[in-house]
Amino acid sequence: MHEQALASTLATISPDRVTEIARALCDVRLPEGREGPRAEVAAAFLAHRRIEVLLDPVLPGRPNLIARVRGRGTGPSVLLNGHLDAGWAPKGWAQDPFTPRVHGGRLYAAGVSDMLGGVASMIATVEAVARLAPLPGDVVLLANMHHDSNGVGTKYALAHADDWPRYGINGEPTSLTLMTAHGGCIKFEVDAFRKQCLLNGWDDIGLTMRSEDKISAYEAKHRADAPWV
Ligand SMILES: [Zn+2]
Repeated sequence: MHEQALASTLATISPDRVTEIARALCDVRLPEGREGPRAEVAAAFLAHRRIEVLLDPVLPGRPNLIARVRGRGTGPSVLLNGHLDAGWAPKGWAQDPFTPRVHGGRLYAAGVSDMLGGVASMIATVEAVARLAPLPGDVVLLANMHHDSNGVGTKYALAHADDWPRYGINGEPTSLTLMTAHGGCIKFEVDAFRKQCLLNGWDDIGLTMRSEDKISAYEAKHRADAPWV
């Protein structure tokens, strides 16, 4: 039964529709990095009586987009997750990366691989699910704002609701390889001076001794000026 529902869902997702959505998402410029205009374009694709859409303003002009298609409540739900902040383009493009272009069956645009193409696929999936009879569980899309560096959009979403699915799919680019785990990440700052101290074995005393000449000169002057101290 579940497999039939899945197969019929997949059959209703058209590559042309995914391309159309991805192109529209890539075509949105983000003023001062604010995702609002792109979230609104995404939300417009999700206008359907069975899709509950919320634009949750994490920061002014910077919402998370959350869309949910309710299931029957008899099976697990699934989360589809992607980020709306995208569009960085390295140098060397043959054409303007901010003007999306379809050529040879491919969409060329800044941010399409990381990860507006993934978000578009998820939007098309939610559309398809909404057209079907209710699945056992909910299908939830979280297209979050600011994922970069610290994932604040996702953290905000997790902190402001407790009904998130326990299963999830993320659309980060992996060269079309399925990944079932993530190694996590470690963030650290390098303090250039501290690094120099570590490399040279300078502890507090070592640092002080680097000024030995000045200290000796001061002590000599002090002895001359105030020999009674
Ligand atoms: Zn990404």
